[in-house]
Amino acid sequence: MSDPRTEQIAANLADVRDRIEQAARAAGRDPAGLTLVGVTKTFPVQDARRLYELGVPDLGEARDQEARVKAAELTGPRWHFVGRLQRNKAGSVAAYAALVHTVDRPELVRALANGVRRAGREPLDVLLQVSLDGDPDRGGAPAADVPALADEAAATGVLRPAGVMAIAPIDADPDEAFAALAAVAARLVADHPGAGIVSAGMSGDLEAAVRNGATHLRIGTALLGGRPPHPR
Ligand SMILES: *Cc1c(COP(=O)(O)O)cnc(C)c1O
Repeated sequence: MSDPRTEQIAANLADVRDRIEQAARAAGRDPAGLTLVGVTKTFPVQDARRLYELGVPDLGEARDQEARVKAAELTGPRWHFVGRLQRNKAGSVAAYAALVHTVDRPELVRALANGVRRAGREPLDVLLQVSLDGDPDRGGAPAADVPALADEAAATGVLRPAGVMAIAPIDADPDEAFAALAAVAARLVADHPGAGIVSAGMSGDLEAAVRNGATHLRIGTALLGGRPPHPR
């Protein structure tokens, strides 16, 4: 494919990879330890396919209704669910997601575990989402609740606690927020050695995330362009 849209996305991807590499080098980290998750929400499945074919095997979506259609049409990528998750959508998400980033309450642990059993699939990797500012709109559990949530996930036998995720608070210093997340991550990995993923960093703050130990960067706008404003 070399239509103009593909060329534009390829150029954006080169810029993003460059930013990631420079941030890694500045932090004394190996860029190979960083996973780029291309967030394709609101963009057509054709754009998801372009990213995949340009060499981005990890794609992220935020709404089940949209994600399940794309995941059915495009089966090559590892689909990441990064949006706020409703209990009644958990069964659907459990069928196609490779990694759910947004587990923040016990009812989601139970609903996802039921979904995995119903789908008869391999155990599902989940991240515990941490609230760094207590804003209920953005989701996330208080840091103090994370160890118990991880234990509950592991106890299901069908969910594997794989790490933590956070969204930096608006109007706060992302370095401070991601440093707080790193402390939660260190505590979690002491209990669950396989839970080393730190999902942090979006288009505007990926450098701060890399400085503070992120392993997974969720990048939308810098790859695909602006989205229509999100209705609240
Ligand atoms: C949309 C979204 C992203 C991508 O954000 P950009 O600023 O467009 O890079 C990352 N994480 C989550 C949870 C999102 O909903």
